[in-house]
Amino acid sequence: MSKTQTQLNPAPRYKRVLLKISGEALMGNREYGLDPDMVAQIARDVGAVRALGIDVCLVVGGGNIFRGVSVAAAGMERASADYMGMLATVINALALQNALEQIQVDTRVQTAIPMDTVAEPYIRRRAERHMEKGRVVIFAAGTGNPYFTTDTAAALRASEMGCDVLLKGTKVDGVYDADPEKNPDAKRYERLGYMRVLTDDLGVMDHAAISLARENQIPILVFSIYRPGAFAEVLSGNGCYTLVKDED
Ligand code: UDP
Repeated sequence: MSKTQTQLNPAPRYKRVLLKISGEALMGNREYGLDPDMVAQIARDVGAVRALGIDVCLVVGGGNIFRGVSVAAAGMERASADYMGMLATVINALALQNALEQIQVDTRVQTAIPMDTVAEPYIRRRAERHMEKGRVVIFAAGTGNPYFTTDTAAALRASEMGCDVLLKGTKVDGVYDADPEKNPDAKRYERLGYMRVLTDDLGVMDHAAISLARENQIPILVFSIYRPGAFAEVLSGNGCYTLVKDED
């Protein structure tokens, strides 16, 4: 596995970033559900980036609780299963909000499916205003539409919020040419073009998400969310990650 650090020179300056946190990341080493230690660690990492004065918004997945496609495959109507998946992301968003507030990071949850007694409905300008006030905004319920994923929701919200970069926190510290957990010779890409990711089907995010990020020229930074402190580190141009953007 490549351990060379990615070094961008000079380090990029990000004003506003969106972090996509998959449900899988929130379950830590468990089989399903939420791992409170992992949720707390991610909250600390988010707080550390916010403390740098960077606007932060989050999109959370729900795969640790419910994945629509697999249930649809088992016989349930796809759209209904997808709505259940979107509700699962709200559970994760509330857990993350709680963990952030426990360390005094001001947050708001906005949901793409209105549920006013639980959280605010998604309103773009209001989300902007929250971030201007230094609050971390957590976007839940994906895009609000079945047949989509929270990766696509992340690319959509990053576009709407005018984010400088979309970060995808995964288990590994970037995109590899083979599975680094199975193949010790797997090499990590430092940079990749959007088209390469699409044509080689590199599995960074689904195609709809990559296409949206490409159209709106939002770089995608893939890094390990499992390593404490990595979120702030990669934003300063250090550490290990893969950057997906247009070829220079
Ligand atoms: N989902 C959906 N529309 C969206 C986002 C999510 O229908 O815009 C559903 C879909 O069923 C998906 C589930 O919510 O399987 C959980 O989201 P995702 O699989 O993206 O979560 P992650 O893999 O990031 O944990």
